[in-house]
Amino acid sequence: MMSPNDKAFNRNLEPEREPGVTLANPRILVIEDEPSQIELLRYNFTKQGYQVDVASDGEEGLLAAKEDPPDLILLDWMLPNLSGIEVCRQLRRAKNTREVPIIMLTARSEERDKIRGLDIGADDYVSKPYSIKELIARVKAALRRPTTSFSENKLAVGELEINFEKHKITFEGEILEVSPTEFRLLVTLMQSPGRVFSREQLLDLAWGISSALDTRTVDVHIGRLRRILAKAGNNNMIRTVRGFGYSFAEG
Ligand code: CA
Repeated sequence: MMSPNDKAFNRNLEPEREPGVTLANPRILVIEDEPSQIELLRYNFTKQGYQVDVASDGEEGLLAAKEDPPDLILLDWMLPNLSGIEVCRQLRRAKNTREVPIIMLTARSEERDKIRGLDIGADDYVSKPYSIKELIARVKAALRRPTTSFSENKLAVGELEINFEKHKITFEGEILEVSPTEFRLLVTLMQSPGRVFSREQLLDLAWGISSALDTRTVDVHIGRLRRILAKAGNNNMIRTVRGFGYSFAEG
């Protein structure tokens, strides 16, 4: 539930400023141990109008985030003391950091493979070496993350609405015809806008535990959902995160 005191709620009400960022001077916490990476991030994000705080190991990062939650966290995977994955898990468990967007920075493709299928709760993943322009774009997108509103048996993001009582999905008031599987798939994605789900996680959540289906099944149904949404006039609500899976973004 969102309340007017909630950061995410207020974020959504603020008019977007171009060029620059949605929030006035959003505060980013960089949890990274490599000095050259820290400098690169600090320089570029400061230039864009962000306030940048730095923690150079996992434990310090966790403490800093819990003490004074930032607007977004850039979290390195390979860290001394506590791994990035463990930091992410703990941030998701703590009450005051549960909603803070986290973008994980991973160094190698093997790390991506390890993350795939792990439910660590990051919002996005960026592989090193990354283009700073691309990273800034991903940060902006994460800060603009749409909020889901729940009310009496309804779930809504933007103009897309799910009515659980009637088992109906509408976009701009128009009813969308989806299969029961696609219904569950869309609900799963919509409940956590901006969060990246792996295909394995989606199989688990939308098809049921220990589904023996091929992960390509997910792609097929995502494809169908996209076509249904596109027909109703929306083309970009379901985003592909290359190498990781899918996430829901307000189109
Ligand atoms: Ca590192």
